[in-house]
Amino acid sequence: MTTGSTIDLHSHTTASDGLDTPAELVRKASQQGLSVLGLTDHDTVDGLAAASDAAIQAGITLVPGVELSTTVKGAEVHVLGYFVDREDDVFRGHLEEFAQGRVRRIARMIERLQELGYPIDGDAILAQASEGSVGRPHVARALMDIGAVESVSEAFDRFLKPGRPGFVPRDPFEPEDAVRLLVDHGAIPTLAHPYSAKDIDGILKRLVPAGLKGFETYYAEYTPEQHAELRGIADAWGLLPTGGSDYHGTGFREGRELGAAPVPDDVWERLSALHESMEHGR
Ligand code: AMP
Ligand code: ZN
Ligand code: FE
Ligand code: FE
Repeated sequence: MTTGSTIDLHSHTTASDGLDTPAELVRKASQQGLSVLGLTDHDTVDGLAAASDAAIQAGITLVPGVELSTTVKGAEVHVLGYFVDREDDVFRGHLEEFAQGRVRRIARMIERLQELGYPIDGDAILAQASEGSVGRPHVARALMDIGAVESVSEAFDRFLKPGRPGFVPRDPFEPEDAVRLLVDHGAIPTLAHPYSAKDIDGILKRLVPAGLKGFETYYAEYTPEQHAELRGIADAWGLLPTGGSDYHGTGFREGRELGAAPVPDDVWERLSALHESMEHGR
């Protein structure tokens, strides 16, 4: 086990841009001694059924989730939804639209890189969307496969982040619309890795009135000082201080190993109590 925490509320699988299948992820979580795992793939609930089955077998609690990506003034504002209903067809229809937007965006990135002379296999990249959603990490791995870069991080730094030659912005999508969508479908919206949002206060002024309930305070990549600062912000706004690793697979990115976030036990008690109070309010 990497930390004392047994809770990790932010992770990805092969259903989006992670490296482990949902069953592998859950097995790993259980072997590491986690008791609560949130699966939050990008724009898809396709990994949740297999993860849920595996969690029952392993005797751990799976929190069904999703991560929605928006951009505000060039800053990444990601919204995590917890306790999504993977059988809600209307909700799934919205996710399907976002996933199609991802395919269009990634197709344009592939084209740009090919025009620049990098012979990446576009069909192979886009085929990965058949089991969920595609993203820039898939392009990063394709650049590694042809030897153009040595790591995912190098691919982002040289080609895939804003201002670099392979970058294409995502379709416009306001974060309050992401929050409202989750609220409308019975999920609990939380702000992921808040420092990515840059203007945290400005974003919270928009998202709390829209129904935001949580704030990803204990994010594994952040320092103890940052966790303390974020905890102060969460408390000041009355938001639930959540946390997680943003694990995408072993070695995907330093600092994001499964279970690496110091999430206090009472976070899970508070999150599950909030979910139960919502169920009773229906
Ligand atoms: P996308 O959803 O297609 O915009 O891709 C975003 C994904 O890429 C997120 O899951 C991030 O974790 C990952 N990512 C963003 N920047 C980097 C980076 N510099 N190195 C590695 N992964 C990154
Ligand atoms: Zn990701
Ligand atoms: Fe994110
Ligand atoms: Fe994530």
